[in-house]
Amino acid sequence: MLRLHDTATGTVRPLELRDPGRVSMYVCGPTVYEVPHLGHGRFTLVFDVLRRYLTFRGLEVVHVSNVTDIDDHIIERAAHEGRTEPEVAAEYEASWWAAMDALEVLRPTAVPHATRYIPGMVELVGQLVARDVAYETDDGVYLQVDTVDGYGLLAHQPLESLRVGARIEASEQKRSPLDFALWKKAKPGEPTWPSPWGDGRPGWHTECVVMSLDLLGDGFDLHGGGQDLIFPHHENERAQAVAAGRTFARHWLHNGWVMVGGEKMSKSLQNFTTIGDLLARGDPRAYRLLVLRSHYRRPIEVTPETIATAGRGLARLDALARRLALPDPMSGVVVRDEAVAAARGGVDDDAVARFCDHMDDDLDTPAATADVFDLVNRAHAAADEGDAEAARRLGGSVALLCGAMGLRLRSGVGDLDEPTRQLVDRRDAARRVGDFARADALRGELLAAGWTVEDGPDGTVVRR
Ligand SMILES: [Zn+2]
Repeated sequence: MLRLHDTATGTVRPLELRDPGRVSMYVCGPTVYEVPHLGHGRFTLVFDVLRRYLTFRGLEVVHVSNVTDIDDHIIERAAHEGRTEPEVAAEYEASWWAAMDALEVLRPTAVPHATRYIPGMVELVGQLVARDVAYETDDGVYLQVDTVDGYGLLAHQPLESLRVGARIEASEQKRSPLDFALWKKAKPGEPTWPSPWGDGRPGWHTECVVMSLDLLGDGFDLHGGGQDLIFPHHENERAQAVAAGRTFARHWLHNGWVMVGGEKMSKSLQNFTTIGDLLARGDPRAYRLLVLRSHYRRPIEVTPETIATAGRGLARLDALARRLALPDPMSGVVVRDEAVAAARGGVDDDAVARFCDHMDDDLDTPAATADVFDLVNRAHAAADEGDAEAARRLGGSVALLCGAMGLRLRSGVGDLDEPTRQLVDRRDAARRVGDFARADALRGELLAAGWTVEDGPDGTVVRR
C-alpha cells in the first residue's frame, strides 16, 4: 500500500482512499499572469509522477487542478498593458499548457476556472457569515480565524505564534491580523461580480475550497501543491471548510523548493528561470529525470550542471533503447498488470516488485530511478554475454518502469512528419547561406509547433 507523508500529521502514513479503487486528488494550479517557471514545473512533475504511479497500480485517478484567472497580478498586468483581464489570462494559460505538454505532464481530468465558480463562492461566503464566523468590513468580508477549530494544523503552529509577525495595516478593519478576505469589495476599474455585500470578487483561498469540494466531494483523498502553499493558502482553505461544517482533504502532500545557485528560486531574488528557458536549451525529459532523482520533499538544485547530468542519464537510457529496440513506453497509459501481461514474460518480476516497494515508501523516486539504471547496466551485460532472453527481460523492465514514471525512451525510430521535416530543411538551408534572421524565424515556427530545437553538428535537431 502506498504510504505518503501527510503535512497535517507530520508523518508518513498510508493513503487511505474514500472510495476503493479510486483516488480523488486536488492540486492547486497556476495563476495565469506570467510564463510558468521551474517551481511550477517541479510541482506538476511531482504530481504527474504520483498520478502515473497510482494509475500503474491499477487505480482510477480523478485529478482536479484549477486555473486562477482573476487576481491582483492579472488586473495589474492588464491595466499596465492596456488589455482586458480575460486577454491576459488566456495568453498565459496558453503558455502554461504549452509548457505542460512539452514536459509530458498529463492534463488534469478537470480544470475549473475561478471566474466560472463565483456563484458557488458567494454561497460559501454567505454560509460563513450566517454561521457568524465571518464578518463584513468596508472593503470586504473576512473569516475570523480564531473561531476555527485547529487553525494552524498545517503550519504546525498554534494561533498565538502565527499571530506574531502578522500585522494589520492602519487602513484595515480586521479583527485579527490572521483574518483573511473571503470577498473583496470592488475598487474602481476592476472586474466585479455581484454579491450580497456589494460588487466585488472572491479571495484566492475561497476558490480552491469551493472548486475542490464541488468536483471531488467531502472528504476527498489528497490535496497538494508546493510547500509555499502550506501557509497561508492551504491553512485558509481548510479553515473555510471546517468553519462551514464540511469535511476537507484526508491527506496533504507538499513538494520541496527549487534552488538556483543555493538560493530558493523566487521572483524577488531575480533568479527566476522559466520552463521556456529550460526547454529552449535541451531535452524536456531532463527536468523530469532531475525531479525523479531527488526526493519530492527535498529541495532540488537546477543548474546547467545538474541538467547536463540528467541529460547524460537520458543518453544511457536511449542507448539501451536503441541497442535492444525497446518499445516506446509512453505509447499508452501504463497499468502494471496489463503491461506485465502484454510483455508475455518479457519483464523481470523482481525488478517490478522492488520498484513498487520504493514508490510505496513515500514515493522514493531516487531509489526507484537508481534501480532502473542498475537494470540498464544488467541488460547491457546480458546482451554482451549473448543472453538475448535476459537482455530482453531486463530491457523490457526498463521500458515498463520508465513508462510508469512518465519518462519516454528514444530509440531513434520514428521519423518526423512531413511539415516538420520541411521546416527543419528550410532552417538548415537558411543557416548554410548565413540568413540567420530567417533561421531564427523558422526556429520560432518549430517552437510554436511544440518542438524543442537544438543545433547539432549535422544541423537542426528537433525533439518533442
Ligand atoms: Zn489552491
